[in-house]
Amino acid sequence: MSISLLPGHPHTAYRDGELCMASHALSALAQAHGTPLFVYSKAAMLDALAAYQRGFAGRNAQICYAMKANSSLGVLQVFAQAGCGFDIVSGGELERVLAAGGDPGKVIFSGVGKTRAEMRQALVAGIGCFNVESESELEVLSDAALAMGLRAPVSIRVNPNVDPKTHPYISTGLKGNKFGVAHERALATYQRAAALPGLQVVGIDCHIGSQITDSTPYLDAMDRVLDLVDAVEAAGIPIHHIDFGGGLGIDYNGDTPPAADALWAQLLAKLDARGYGQRRLMIEPGRSLVGNAGVCVTEVLYLKPGEQKNFCIIDAAMNELPRPAMYEAFHQIVPLSPRHGPGTVFDVVGPVCESGDWIGRDRALDVRPGDLLAVLSAGAYCMSMASNYNTRGRPAEVLVEGDKATLIRARETAADQMRHERLVG
Ligand SMILES: *Cc1c(COP(=O)(O)O)cnc(C)c1O
Repeated sequence: MSISLLPGHPHTAYRDGELCMASHALSALAQAHGTPLFVYSKAAMLDALAAYQRGFAGRNAQICYAMKANSSLGVLQVFAQAGCGFDIVSGGELERVLAAGGDPGKVIFSGVGKTRAEMRQALVAGIGCFNVESESELEVLSDAALAMGLRAPVSIRVNPNVDPKTHPYISTGLKGNKFGVAHERALATYQRAAALPGLQVVGIDCHIGSQITDSTPYLDAMDRVLDLVDAVEAAGIPIHHIDFGGGLGIDYNGDTPPAADALWAQLLAKLDARGYGQRRLMIEPGRSLVGNAGVCVTEVLYLKPGEQKNFCIIDAAMNELPRPAMYEAFHQIVPLSPRHGPGTVFDVVGPVCESGDWIGRDRALDVRPGDLLAVLSAGAYCMSMASNYNTRGRPAEVLVEGDKATLIRARETAADQMRHERLVG
């Protein structure tokens, strides 16, 4: 048998010319469940998690999976069973954590626009920490907690003003971003939090961006955050945990982010040098835990040659693969059973009525209608961002583990989409 691995995608390989994940030919899964179809490898998720766990061996650390990357219940269950907490950004995400068997005590609640109702819901559930992003949010949270006879555990998200050198839409730790409290305002904000009767200060956090492929921005942000911990504790406010957010990148197209354990060896050396090595640490990785654990299998519908461009029209679209349209992001696109002709250069596009509905530009492919393709690195920020535009049902999802393949989400029907709509009487 000939085996060739796919770069960046552990547990996905060509076996005798057929793309497989775990022991499953992806074409057989597509046959059984239709296309477009997301397929995820549980082993790849656990491998990605293990790199962080190795990095934190012997430390007091909690990994909170940033579930907006992929919030399907079957995926959450994998991380809950592996002992992860969750970083949530809405009350809906909290309901998903509880439905998947996650521990609310290990939930941290991020986001600039938490509503009072979401705060109450999270207080009732007994979450571990609110990552607060503004002074006005502090006031509302204190008020909401007091009204319930509680004190809300809070961390303040500080904006370290560090450039993560990633796409502007996924940079979050620069002065011009809406996220976090400015570094210069952080001490005053902590003093305000400590004085509010409905709050209990427990931590500090930051999150500087996403798809970060270099360790320098993390090291710089850590210095800035530790400077604040020094200052806040000198003002008599103890900081029990330090949360460094998520953001570590993955290999989409020859990208070379540091491995999680290598990155943390560097960061822990700095923490040790500054005397914070035994402090409770939290992190919120999303993309790096799931991104390269998933692919989207899609069928070639039509080839449409043109004067300026050749188009390869597939049955997946910006609905389920929104990253190219949103950030001009790159996904590798490979055939499930490669032919070996010279191929043609195509723009690979979906059926949606938008010129922005493209999945890959200028790709050399030897394909015919009816062939199956895999869009790689599709485990993060694809299905969780999927929409119903053009009344397209969201795809099915399968989780594979060894020789087991579980349908973790059925394909959405038009009836599912219309369920809450009413004709005018
Ligand atoms: C999105 C987000 C994360 C996860 O980011 P990744 O790039 O997916 O690792 C972590 N923390 C916060 C606050 C976020 O908004």
